[in-house]
Amino acid sequence: MNAPAVDPVDLGRLSQLSVTELRGVGEKKATALAKAEVANLLDLLTYYPRRYLDRTREARIAELVEGEEASVLVTVVESTSRRVRGGKVMVTVVVGDDSGTLRLTFFNQRWRERQLSPGRNAVIYGKVELYRGRRQMTNPVVDLVGDKTGRIIPVYPQSDKAGLHSWDIAEWVAEILRRTLPPNGRGLADPLPPHLLDEHDFITREAAFAGIHQPESMAEVTEARRRLVFDELFRLQLALVLRKRAIERTEVGVAHRLDGPLVQGFTERLPFELTGAQRRAIAEIGRDLARPVPMHRLLQGDVGAGKTLVAVATMLAAVDGGHQAALMAPTEVLAEQHHAGIRRLLDGLTVEDRGSLLAERPLRVELLTNRVPSAERKRILSGLLTGEVDIAIGTHALIQENVLFGSLGAVVIDEQHRFGVEQRAILRERSHGEAVPDLLVMTATPIPRTAAMTVYGDLDVSVLDELPPGRTPIETRWVPAPGNLEQAPGAGPAAGPTADALRPGSHPELFAGLEAEEIEAQLEAMWEEVRGQLDEGRQVYVVCPLIDESDKLEVASAEVVFERLSAVELDGYRLGLLHGRLGPAEKDQTMELFRTGHLDVLVATTVIEVGVDVPNATVMVVLDAGRFGIAQLHQLRGRVGRGAHVSTCWLVGEVTTEEGAARLQALVDSTDGFELAEVDLDLRGEGTILGERQKGRNDLKLASLRRDRDTVAAARRAAIDVVDADPVLESHPGLAAELAIFLDPDDAEFLLKG
Ligand code: ADP
Ligand code: MG
Repeated sequence: MNAPAVDPVDLGRLSQLSVTELRGVGEKKATALAKAEVANLLDLLTYYPRRYLDRTREARIAELVEGEEASVLVTVVESTSRRVRGGKVMVTVVVGDDSGTLRLTFFNQRWRERQLSPGRNAVIYGKVELYRGRRQMTNPVVDLVGDKTGRIIPVYPQSDKAGLHSWDIAEWVAEILRRTLPPNGRGLADPLPPHLLDEHDFITREAAFAGIHQPESMAEVTEARRRLVFDELFRLQLALVLRKRAIERTEVGVAHRLDGPLVQGFTERLPFELTGAQRRAIAEIGRDLARPVPMHRLLQGDVGAGKTLVAVATMLAAVDGGHQAALMAPTEVLAEQHHAGIRRLLDGLTVEDRGSLLAERPLRVELLTNRVPSAERKRILSGLLTGEVDIAIGTHALIQENVLFGSLGAVVIDEQHRFGVEQRAILRERSHGEAVPDLLVMTATPIPRTAAMTVYGDLDVSVLDELPPGRTPIETRWVPAPGNLEQAPGAGPAAGPTADALRPGSHPELFAGLEAEEIEAQLEAMWEEVRGQLDEGRQVYVVCPLIDESDKLEVASAEVVFERLSAVELDGYRLGLLHGRLGPAEKDQTMELFRTGHLDVLVATTVIEVGVDVPNATVMVVLDAGRFGIAQLHQLRGRVGRGAHVSTCWLVGEVTTEEGAARLQALVDSTDGFELAEVDLDLRGEGTILGERQKGRNDLKLASLRRDRDTVAAARRAAIDVVDADPVLESHPGLAAELAIFLDPDDAEFLLKG
């Protein structure tokens, strides 16, 4: 009567069973599965359908309309091949359903003859043509579905070459479900805490796996997906939150005070009010600093949002408490700029001289890069060790072995994406003391909040989402001309547009009639305006086409642009050229000439992307803008709009895809980095964002950071609640065991042991 008391099967167990345990999976199929990264039963159970075929809603052949795209479920009647002109092979397949027949032709796909052998069932997707009075499709998309009787047929990613068919997978998954779920199996464990099941009104995990693989209705798929997506994101967030808490548990930090004289003196002396966002970020950082655990915080803020002030306030808090602080920048130019700027901000501030109690001495801010001469360097190194240097600003030079701080209390890293995790670890080891310094990483590459929760989930995040007042907005315009000015000097205007290029505006078809001369006129008008700005004393950046293939080609192309502009469009002005192959001295000299107004125009490759600050530069021309990503264009554009004068950004470039057009149009429509980041995520998907930090974490099979934004946030909240109530998941052994499958063993040990 009573079922025997056996534990239900958990995912860990499934992950230990090889696919060869299944009937019908021999060596050959196992090899094919391995190519699809499916080795065990868990992999197979989480090999989800790519789409579903709802038989009740498929069109019949008789209903197909010429000129429209459609999908039909058919049975192959006959399949033949023959050679046609030019040695090509043409495969002709006649397919049918109970309403009629349809002809498919495939060119140069000889294998179709074998794939579509008579009797096979397939879903065909393509454009319906009329050929000699008969309906046909040319090179349609084919999904083999096997002969299924269900109303809804899952279509799995399949590979004809590897001999992996959708119906095979459906069959194997069915076997797993049959052997696992009641009445035949022991059931599938569900480790999700019951309160979360309730709160989100989730179906059970058994129902979810059954529903995603063998749905009775599309509504069932939706519910199944909702549950499984949450599971994926919840596991990921649990790992991230556990990591964060484990670090907090195991590392001793410095409890800073925030009401010290330096922080106060600094904010009082500022010639302007902090923005609301700056105040918020400083308060968030302050709460971290006051705690005795080390801060790990990311400060996201668009170009010009005022991150430097937040960094300075953070560093001063450390100095107020008798410690030192360091700021690390990705390039020497940036480090030097920060050094000069921060020195100016802090000029006149004093610190207590610990040598003699009553005396004060000026706050000491030093620059340490590889360019600092060795005598100077010695002096600074000794000051770092004794604690006489309060704030060190520099590059990688700051994390070299011989650099030791007396008591490093806070570290700020600017433009974090240029630094690896190891370098951060090293920097934190540079201190003499026991305590681990607080760490603030800053980035001007905004990513959407939910993506940040995933990519930087082991960090806290503060956001500067407000620009200081009084900025003049940058006007952005898109000129749909080819961006390569690669003709010889004086060779005349650049070539006309290619026929199928897309044009500005959300309706590219409206621009289809744009004539080459009109585009030519737009280009000429652009240079005319650029010259107008130059004549008013403003300065101009021209960014050269991006050439991925080779640094050398990129330099060559920059040189050509430089020659061409000097001779033609910007003849008579003072132009400088900046690219990655110049020596540091040359680069510096050119930058310096531009900064001091001795050059009118800076022709450059993307080396100017980060941190260059010349308020008098008000025009940015990006050539071949279609080749840049949204984030990069936004960064480039951030070089202008820094002064009181109105700025303009010209994007010169043709695009040939909808996505490319959407990208440039987004830049025209918005200057808000976070808004652009959302667009970017929509256009490109999360792969690129996840790629930076999530390599190896491929647990996200169903979840999409884009589609499932709300679930990301919900999963993070849930993970924080669970971990804060139970820091090593003692009362959730099922969850802990499941996490361990997706973590490497050392990690699991670190995260799940008290
Ligand atoms: P980013 O976030 O790009 O690093 P910065 O910190 O360099 O931005 O700030 C850009 C400019 O804005 C600087 O010239 C800075 O002095 C100015 N700034 C920063 N905060 C404010 C503010 N609250 N009000 C007015 N100007 C500000
Ligand atoms: Mg900055």
